[in-house]
Amino acid sequence: MPRSLPFRRSPLLFLLIPTLLLAEDQGLEHVNTLFQVSTLDALSLGIYQGALSLRALERQGDFGVGTFDSLDGELIALDGRFFQVRSDGTVSRVAGDATTPFAAVTTFKPDWRLTLQQPWSYPQVSALIDQMLPSKNLFYAVKIKGTFTDLTARSVPRQFLPFPPLATAISQQTLFPFHNISGTLVGFRSPAFVKGINQPGYHFHFISDDQHSGGHALSFQIIQVVIEIAVIRQHSTFLPDNQPFLSAPLPLP
Ligand code: ZN
Repeated sequence: MPRSLPFRRSPLLFLLIPTLLLAEDQGLEHVNTLFQVSTLDALSLGIYQGALSLRALERQGDFGVGTFDSLDGELIALDGRFFQVRSDGTVSRVAGDATTPFAAVTTFKPDWRLTLQQPWSYPQVSALIDQMLPSKNLFYAVKIKGTFTDLTARSVPRQFLPFPPLATAISQQTLFPFHNISGTLVGFRSPAFVKGINQPGYHFHFISDDQHSGGHALSFQIIQVVIEIAVIRQHSTFLPDNQPFLSAPLPLP
């Protein structure tokens, strides 16, 4: 537009543009945050004591994954609704008084969206997303909503004191094989350098559209999905103050 030319040539505007870009780039106002409770190493050791209430966790995000006090099932947060998938397969909305020993949430604001209509597996979908990402050194929130021809989820049974290590508890997991199911995978891709704090790579939990099925996703095959991805450049870890955490030999070797 010819009328805009004088403005483009304004020295003031030339000064302003880099300043505004710098403010956008260096400020924290528009940066997504991953808020995490405890560390993966602590959970691996069997520190399943709830450290933060769901009421407090809900204030830190509307999208995420985790577990519950005593490792009582899988936590999934989607659109501000928090769900618990127990090892008997039941799914329920969670009240604010429930507590979590380990969770990761963000306020989901996608930067990119793509549609896939291929019979692709978890490794194929994650390889495609990996190719698209600008860097493997950032966190990403990933939401995959659509139809899955196959999806295997799991949940773990409530544990009792003295708590066994996570590997022992997972050996008691219940598998839920689903076929031709519609729902949403909620998850994160974390950089390799967070090892010990969180799980490097992808970690997804699933909730069906009817909110009757879900769990920690072990494998899946998509057929038609929409994938939304948010870049996360800020990470915040809330540490438990219970004695098992305070005296735990962290990090794990
Ligand atoms: Zn999980």
